[in-house]
Amino acid sequence: MTSRRYYDDSHTHAFDAQVVERLIWEGKPAVVLAETYFYPTGGGQPCDTGTLGGVAVVDVVTRPQDLAIVHILAAELLDGDTVRADIDWARRFDHMQQHTGQHILTQALIQLCEAQTVGFHLSPDTVTIDLDRTDLTADQLAQAEQLANTVIWGNMPVSATIYQTVDELRAAGVRMRRLPDHIATDGLRVVEIGTFDATACGGTHVRATGEIGLLKMIRLEKRGDKLRVEFKCGGRALADHAQRLDVTQKLTAQLTVGLPDLPEKIARLQSDLNEAQRAKKAAVNKLIDSHAAELVAGAPVVDGRRVIRLVSDLYDANDLRALGKKLTAHSGVIALLAAPGEKAQLMLARSADLDPLNLNPALKVALDVLGGGRGGGTPDFVQGGGIPASPSQCEAALDAAAAVI
Ligand SMILES: [Zn+2]
Repeated sequence: MTSRRYYDDSHTHAFDAQVVERLIWEGKPAVVLAETYFYPTGGGQPCDTGTLGGVAVVDVVTRPQDLAIVHILAAELLDGDTVRADIDWARRFDHMQQHTGQHILTQALIQLCEAQTVGFHLSPDTVTIDLDRTDLTADQLAQAEQLANTVIWGNMPVSATIYQTVDELRAAGVRMRRLPDHIATDGLRVVEIGTFDATACGGTHVRATGEIGLLKMIRLEKRGDKLRVEFKCGGRALADHAQRLDVTQKLTAQLTVGLPDLPEKIARLQSDLNEAQRAKKAAVNKLIDSHAAELVAGAPVVDGRRVIRLVSDLYDANDLRALGKKLTAHSGVIALLAAPGEKAQLMLARSADLDPLNLNPALKVALDVLGGGRGGGTPDFVQGGGIPASPSQCEAALDAAAAVI
């Protein structure tokens, strides 16, 4: 079994190590050291990364048979019994801030909310705990967050002790959340945060709670009968604050309001926008009414039919459809309409009294002229396009459609 030096010293991150075994682990070169400060993946905490003799350590795992710690490498190590080891300290310290913060938040939620932590997940982007109840109020959660930060700012010592028996644990007066029934032969490692919390844990932790700096809850998510709480500690909380500050500063400058007035300002802008859109829709409807009347009046009647053509970028697809409906409300009308652009639209419509004329073949011919696009519809109303087309290309497409109607 490798001697796990990080158990009693979680701050050493550069050391000389003695190589005791070289092996291939899942196709990659790997080594076992006599003793190591590298933390292997486990207990919800990701492993350390870093270098051994300048070669990248890409993963660290515990070998189940003998609990040796296997350092998996990006390349073969050069020969030699001793090797220089460097742990990626920024990554490790971040893990320790988040992980120790989790111990504190979990205890704060037990004390103030009677909520037990039943899950913990730490990734490069997120830290979450799952609680066994979902009925906590915002006020309760805020109080738990406040208590966690009070413990952090109290700079309480964080210590780890290995106890061999339950009696030893009791005699030491360790107040654990749950006392174990028995202790395995290699002892139980208990991490104590002042007198605030005691938890069995094999992970790495800061030396004193002040190193965590700050704990901030970010997001709540109900997942069945569990409540997932996302939070950030230390450096992550600072980076999160910087990102939010950047966004809100841009918004307050752009909208020329102070931060507290931002939500109200955005609500007002949304309401103004809705009102403007309603007014625009009413104006466009009026325009479509008068435009339809003008087009019908200006179209000559040939063999009892009025063929009305319009290629216009004035209207969007919805407006064009509304115009088609208005035109074909008159008797004997065939409307051939097109809106050119990046996603050009063609619309062919006819009045009900021109039954059974089917406009689908004409649309197909018109789309062929545009060189593709999809479309279809009922015999009296077809629509298609969605590909780029200029006004003159639209005119050519409508010519082709008119020729087969
Ligand atoms: Zn821990």
